[in-house]
Amino acid sequence: MTDRDLLMIPGPIEFEPAVMAALGAKTTSHLDPRFMAAFGRALVASRKVALADDAQPFIVAGTGTLAMEMAIANVVEPGDRVLVVGTGYFSDRIGTMAERQGAKVSYLRAAPGDVPALDEIERALASGSYKAVTVTHVDTSTGVLAPVEAIARLARTHGALSIVDGVCALGGEELRQDAWGVDIAFAGSQKALGAPPGLAVLTVSKRAMEAHRARKARVPSMYLDFSEWLPIMDAYEHGKPAYFATPAVNLISALDVSLGQLLAEGMDARFERHRRLAGAFRAAEQAMGLRTLPVREDVTAHTLSALYYPDGVDASLVGRVRERGVVIAGGLHPDLKTRYFRIGHMGAVSASDVVTTVSAVARALVASGAKVDARAAVAAAEGALS
Ligand code: PMP
Repeated sequence: MTDRDLLMIPGPIEFEPAVMAALGAKTTSHLDPRFMAAFGRALVASRKVALADDAQPFIVAGTGTLAMEMAIANVVEPGDRVLVVGTGYFSDRIGTMAERQGAKVSYLRAAPGDVPALDEIERALASGSYKAVTVTHVDTSTGVLAPVEAIARLARTHGALSIVDGVCALGGEELRQDAWGVDIAFAGSQKALGAPPGLAVLTVSKRAMEAHRARKARVPSMYLDFSEWLPIMDAYEHGKPAYFATPAVNLISALDVSLGQLLAEGMDARFERHRRLAGAFRAAEQAMGLRTLPVREDVTAHTLSALYYPDGVDASLVGRVRERGVVIAGGLHPDLKTRYFRIGHMGAVSASDVVTTVSAVARALVASGAKVDARAAVAAAEGALS
């Protein structure tokens, strides 16, 4: 990859220059008033991004996997029942984490490309007293979008906490945490939140904080424990310094800039832009005769596309696209890995990035021997954008 290649994988993504400037700025003390202000703003902004005025935000150094583990470790205790709504690789990962916390985990897995039916989820919830339901808003391995609002509502009805993995969704896909009654939403910094990898961002409902406080035993890991972090988040939000573990000063400063940009765009406008850009990819994909891994429009993510290789084309396509200046990703789902590829289209991605990517993919497909009309693919994307 060269510095001029366009990074269109499902995270990390292209970041805005102002975000990178904050990352590269001189590191201050974590007690410096400028950093305290940046951290405080980022905490307030993370609530607004999740549309979660009532939630407690946590911003902790670590990746999306840390956010997953924090969500589970703080509310799940040994012997608790957890229901995993399975839509791919990352849904299984959070299930494994719950197992490692000693939970009894049930998996309701859909075939790759689909989401378990809501009535199946309801039946499962009604059959036992579950402490929590986990759902991956967008499973990055399949490009499947889950109906978070409906699942969160079912969880409430049956007295379970809803835990939403928004690593590949938050800041791009519509999420209304308070209105939908989602208990824990989380993401890593490196996708639609628009800052380099290295931060876990969580927003936790009052109900989930109460469940955490009502635990029989403390969270076994000190670093994961909400109770250790809460005074720190509270202090920084109110402009006061506090110490538990050194905050990732530059990453948090970069996140402050990117979340400020998200809010300046406005969340509704942002959801709409992601729908529009995804629509342009859909139009181009159809013009190229490509089949998406998600089985229906309503389960297809707006933050990435997962597409089967056409007949006669294999994973060497990814290299051919890179030769044309665009970096895309291969497959990830263990059952289908070699049969599909993925294109990220979230965050700062622009209409011209979409057209450039469609052109590079179409020309690489032609070079791979596929019967694709590259001009028609580009025209379809442009038509959908105009
Ligand atoms: N969940 C989802 C849906 C993801 O896409 C990812 C990363 N691709 C993760 C969790 C894990 O995040 P990280 O790689 O930052 O640990």
